[in-house]
Amino acid sequence: MLVSRIAPTPSGFLHVGNAFNFLLTSALVRRNGGRLRLRVDDLDTTRTRPEFLEDLFETLSWLGLQWEDGPKDVRDLAAHHSQALRRSRYLEVLQDFLNLGPAYVCECSRSDLEKRPCACRGNEYAFDPARSRVRVDLDPNETGQKPVILWRHEGIPAYQLVSLVDDLDHGVNLIVRGEDLIESTRIQLALARLLGDRQGARRFETIRFLHHPLIQGPDGSKLSKSRGADALRTLFPRSESNEALRRLLEPEISRFLDSPR
Ligand SMILES: [Zn+2]
Repeated sequence: MLVSRIAPTPSGFLHVGNAFNFLLTSALVRRNGGRLRLRVDDLDTTRTRPEFLEDLFETLSWLGLQWEDGPKDVRDLAAHHSQALRRSRYLEVLQDFLNLGPAYVCECSRSDLEKRPCACRGNEYAFDPARSRVRVDLDPNETGQKPVILWRHEGIPAYQLVSLVDDLDHGVNLIVRGEDLIESTRIQLALARLLGDRQGARRFETIRFLHHPLIQGPDGSKLSKSRGADALRTLFPRSESNEALRRLLEPEISRFLDSPR
């Protein structure tokens, strides 16, 4: 069975680019009789705000989206689905990366790395989940030269680790994301290859990835970038139906669904 997910981040109000991705993913799932999961990427507690979480559920409902798995509302998210509740699971997989060798505790901040290369590899600093930063070197031919962050010094797992682990654990086999995330796909595939037979990671290479173009606004600007003025709640009053938005997006969605892949 086809299993996909939509994965909004509650660090801003949802925008037209989010709506396009969600409606496209939902159309693919419904067309194939699959299951859709809502995964809220709330790992970065420093950027999550209550009004963004409220907006998220309100907007999904306004869009008429339905999902079989994942949180039903803000309260359900906090009680049963928040990524904060899965921290020990992310730590377990992180430990595999540390044990395997290519991941290492790094004392350099991002701005340090802009000034000089990291020399932390081989130093074997002790890992402290509350304050250590962990990076991993991947094959530069696949993912570029820069080491990839897996664990942030605020004690927070990084996006690439969380996204990989969640998609594996949730049995996802179709990932629909914007072209701006192609590099993330390459990084996550490289991370899964590093894990090899551990954590069921072989399954990751069987996932089908679809990268869609970022949709353009009337002025030619990219609408998938998060900017206050693009918030759906600003552009489309909640008192009105979602018909105007659907009229705007449906030609793009049909074009994508009907194009050969
Ligand atoms: Zn370093």
